[in-house]
Amino acid sequence: MSHEDADVLILGGGVIGLACAHYLLAEGRSVRVLEQGRVGGAASHGNCGTLTPSHAPPLAAPGMIGQALRWMLSPAAPLYIRPRWDPALMRWLLQMAGRCNARDWRASGLAKGALLNLSRALTEDLVYGQGLDCGFEASGFHYVFRSARALEKQQRDLPLLAELGIVAQVLDGAALAADEPALRPGMAGALHFPGDAQLRPDRYTAELARIVRAAGGVIEEGVHVGGFERGRHGITAVQTSEGRRSGGKVLLAMGAWSAGFARMLGLRIPVQPGKGYSITYTRPAQVPRRPLVLKERSVCVTAWDDGFRLGSTMEFSGYDDRLNATRLAALESGAAEYLHVPVGPVKQESWCGWRPMCVDDVPLLGRAPGHNNLWLATGHGMMGMGMSAGSGRVVADLMLGRAPLIDPAPYAPARFDAPRGAG
Ligand SMILES: Cc1cc2nc3c(=O)[nH]c(=O)nc-3n(C[C@H](O)[C@H](O)[C@H](O)COP(=O)(O)OP(=O)(O)OC[C@H]3O[C@@H](n4cnc5c(N)ncnc54)[C@H](O)[C@@H]3O)c2cc1C
Repeated sequence: MSHEDADVLILGGGVIGLACAHYLLAEGRSVRVLEQGRVGGAASHGNCGTLTPSHAPPLAAPGMIGQALRWMLSPAAPLYIRPRWDPALMRWLLQMAGRCNARDWRASGLAKGALLNLSRALTEDLVYGQGLDCGFEASGFHYVFRSARALEKQQRDLPLLAELGIVAQVLDGAALAADEPALRPGMAGALHFPGDAQLRPDRYTAELARIVRAAGGVIEEGVHVGGFERGRHGITAVQTSEGRRSGGKVLLAMGAWSAGFARMLGLRIPVQPGKGYSITYTRPAQVPRRPLVLKERSVCVTAWDDGFRLGSTMEFSGYDDRLNATRLAALESGAAEYLHVPVGPVKQESWCGWRPMCVDDVPLLGRAPGHNNLWLATGHGMMGMGMSAGSGRVVADLMLGRAPLIDPAPYAPARFDAPRGAG
């Protein structure tokens, strides 16, 4: 393929860009993925790899503001906002705070849940259909609680999840101890979600890249996209560190960097980088049977045949890529409160990445408002692995002018153009 003839130029080679590439190729469209680093090398690399329709309820919930303010007082808490002058972040935080009400919580939860459910089913089809070697397991998932009060409070989410068809079981302390020997004694209980799953994210993105290339897709790594060229009918090409690349349609899938690039195109999309950390070890002698969230500490634990990972924290500190030792230590001390063996024998990687956090916690999928041939697939926040296959399929269907498998309206980028409440 020359530099001129891709049907779709995909800007960003994370899990979302790659999933879109796969579904477009499956429909006979040619794609060229432009990635400034290595494919899957950013947020899609060191995350926890859980596929969790159970996580449909959004962050912005009634009561969240008080909780967030309490967390701000502790340097090891799961949420941190670095005080600094950043008007876009301030606006974003205020908008997010304005969504901490039952109506917006429910609307975002339903939208997230529909995409997570679709994606959970499609990911399994993709893994088995294409033979992806990525540690996929239909493992289920536990939210583990040390406090009976917190366990009870969390059950407020269950009616919304039931509405989405997401099955949950409440386990008391004894049932949990019998089910999960890796936990220390004295846990209050757990919520068990049998429909959730896990995979190893770096292997999944590597496998997606493999099948994209095998299907004739072009992936260029080390190519920074720095600008664009416009013609009468829209964007005609992008300017990159390696020269000009053109395509019939352009899909912006730059994850946490999407808002900056979109601004150059006159688009304001409310996506902020939400930094998270993980530590990866060799597999310890005893690991949980399925992924866990250790709820009071917000630490996610995932074990694969070839490793063990603790991950969490949400930090709004811009694009600061320093590893904060206090936050990393909080992952290990949090895990030690719950697990007999909280870390693996050899630490392989301490990592941070930026989640593309959209203000309503719902991704942006669809044509960019005011543009003919610019499309968006971004803003997947804490759920990009779990929403990747569904997002790829929805975007491919929309680009082909077909009705997607789920109602695309809640993900339409144009929702931020309309005044709130105007429908
Ligand atoms: C600690 C942590 C734990 C997580 N756990 C989970 C989990 O268990 N389950 C789950 O579903 N999600 C999880 N997530 C979220 C998930 O990692 C993200 O939602 C997902 O990786 C986003 O994918 P993406 O493709 O949009 O972004 P990215 O993977 O960041 O990809 C965007 C790509 O665009 C490229 N790019 C940016 N600008 C340019 C440019 N100018 N030119 C060329 N290329 C460019 C970047 O280099 C990058 O590779 C977690 C995230 C973190 C941080």
